Order: sequence, then structure tokens, then C-alpha cells
Amino acid sequence: MIEMFCLRCREKVQLDEKDVTKEKTAKGRPMLRAKCPKCGAKMTKFVK
Ligand SMILES: [Zn+2]
Repeated sequence: MIEMFCLRCREKVQLDEKDVTKEKTAKGRPMLRAKCPKCGAKMTKFVK
């Protein structure tokens, strides 16, 4: 499970790994993109 923070719900949500898209920014920085299962808002998270 991957934990992300939803800005709209203002709480952490647990996501299955298959629901999270791994992407890279234009500068090559890895990031995760997902949709909040509660409100449907898009969430992004930078990977350390
Ligand atoms: Zn949400």
C-alpha cells in the first residue's frame, strides 16, 4: 500500500500500488500520481 495525502480531504489515504501511476517531471524527478478514492481529487507526491 502507498500512503498519500489528499489536499481536499485533508487526510492521508491508503492506495493500492496498482492505482498509483509513477511518473517523472520534466526535470526527471520521480513522482506518484493517483486519484483520491474518497473525493476523486487528483493527488501527486514526490518521491524522495
Ligand atoms: Zn480526497
